[in-house]
Amino acid sequence: MKFKDMPYTRPDMKAVEATYKKLTQEQRDAKSAEEAFAVHKKYYEFSDDLGTAFELAMIRHTIDTADEFYDKENDFFDEVSPLISNWDNAYKKVLYESPFRPELEKIIGKVAFKNIEVALKAFDESIIDLMQEENALVSRYDKLIASAKIEFEGETYNLSMMRPFLTDVDRSRRKAAWAAVSAYMESVTVEIDDIYDRLVKNRTEQAHRMGYKDFVELGYYRMGRNCYGREDVENFRKQVKESFMPLVKKIQKNIEQRLEIKDGLKLYDYDVYLKEGSPKPIGTPEEILEKGRRLYHELSTETGVFFDFMMENELFDVLGRKNKQQGGYMTYIPKYKSPFIFANFNGTEGDVDVITHESGHAFQGYIVGNNEEIREFAEIGMETAEIHSMSMEYFTEPWMEMFFGDRADDYRTLHLESGISFIPYGCMVDEFQHIVYSHPEMSPAERKETWKKLEHIYRPHIDFDGSIMEEAYWQRQGHIFQVPFYYIDYVLASVCALQFAVRMKEDYKGAWADYLKLCGMSAKDFYVNMLPQCGLNVPFADGTVDALTVALSKRI
Ligand SMILES: [Zn+2]
Repeated sequence: MKFKDMPYTRPDMKAVEATYKKLTQEQRDAKSAEEAFAVHKKYYEFSDDLGTAFELAMIRHTIDTADEFYDKENDFFDEVSPLISNWDNAYKKVLYESPFRPELEKIIGKVAFKNIEVALKAFDESIIDLMQEENALVSRYDKLIASAKIEFEGETYNLSMMRPFLTDVDRSRRKAAWAAVSAYMESVTVEIDDIYDRLVKNRTEQAHRMGYKDFVELGYYRMGRNCYGREDVENFRKQVKESFMPLVKKIQKNIEQRLEIKDGLKLYDYDVYLKEGSPKPIGTPEEILEKGRRLYHELSTETGVFFDFMMENELFDVLGRKNKQQGGYMTYIPKYKSPFIFANFNGTEGDVDVITHESGHAFQGYIVGNNEEIREFAEIGMETAEIHSMSMEYFTEPWMEMFFGDRADDYRTLHLESGISFIPYGCMVDEFQHIVYSHPEMSPAERKETWKKLEHIYRPHIDFDGSIMEEAYWQRQGHIFQVPFYYIDYVLASVCALQFAVRMKEDYKGAWADYLKLCGMSAKDFYVNMLPQCGLNVPFADGTVDALTVALSKRI
């Protein structure tokens, strides 16, 4: 069904509550594993309907924020979502405690039950007041950042609008842009320190109320991590520090040469890879989508069928328009087994990411939705989800001439070098949070000192040239405030995507077959078990980073 024809009606909350209670009771009364699963299938159908209404309201609100009808529907879901989660948890708790659990585990999987266990460990009614305060603090941070007014070249910009100037081809222009951003950060750094201090204390109190030693443990449960802990992640960061840094240094040397920089790389050279700047895609948005269709038909039968489905059912909304929300996302509409991709094309290489990265997410959602009736198989963690999308970026690289013409090689250089350089930065964001939440008593000044020390370990090549960013760079990184411990998932996924990138040079077909396998497995097994079955080394296992560094060194 075309997206525009998908019918929406607001769920009747009295009926929703009654159905949840009925299903919960039926699950409790089930007399056999068959009966328990039959109830669970009714739950699938019910939650598909509810989830579909939610997705349609949310998507239609973001594609036109001035639409009064969907604005109200979006508010409605904001209001009722906590109630729905509460009823949903109650149902899942009964399922988790089912006497038929061994039989049910054979059908819906061990991972599903582990996930319920982790979700139960992540939440308790006793912390609701703290969670409300936490949400308010995060909103305060978001508002502060969104309302930034930065004067630059006679105009006023917010932080995200400043981004193109920070990597401008003209060095003096990007130096001035960084000076403007640094001045802004100096003006708000005390307030951000205060917000973060309150967040750290609040989250620590949540952990204590639930009986945990510190927030690190609770933070991992909140992220739904079901098969690895802080020691594993620590071992991963240790490997990055020991093995990976020389590779990053080599990239920095390449950049210095390419940009003909004689006085060393400065803060304002960070994230600049090419003297000519980033390549821009050729063609209108419609042409870019049409190129995407050709690409996916040439890549494989499965991807061709997927892309046609997306186009036929108008599941891309990628053109920038007035009243459309900023940013981009991929989501999934369960009842119609339809992924949906939202973006704002702006003529930069980011538009091609929609065809590669977001479509990687959508392709995986499409495969699982069509092949599996067990909904839990689709419940992947972010460390897994980002492998699907980031790997697709590399699998589609051979087609980049279609988008960038004679600058395709530039795109591939930029993509690989920025992908590698991201890894130490991501580790730094993660290590910072581990230190902060293990020592909640630290003062804001001590936190800044901690960040500065980490900069010298993970990005020793950057000369901050006196900017406050040396101690406050993290204050622009929203994840640190919004979703603690999330950031490392991108890094773990990068390490897997880079393993595919290495392998596909020698054996594209074999690498692709394993990628398809990984997409199909989805959440049928635990992350650490699944990777080796798909030809990938687990990022935190000893030797993984070392082997990857050796392989990548040949290409840098
Ligand atoms: Zn993604």
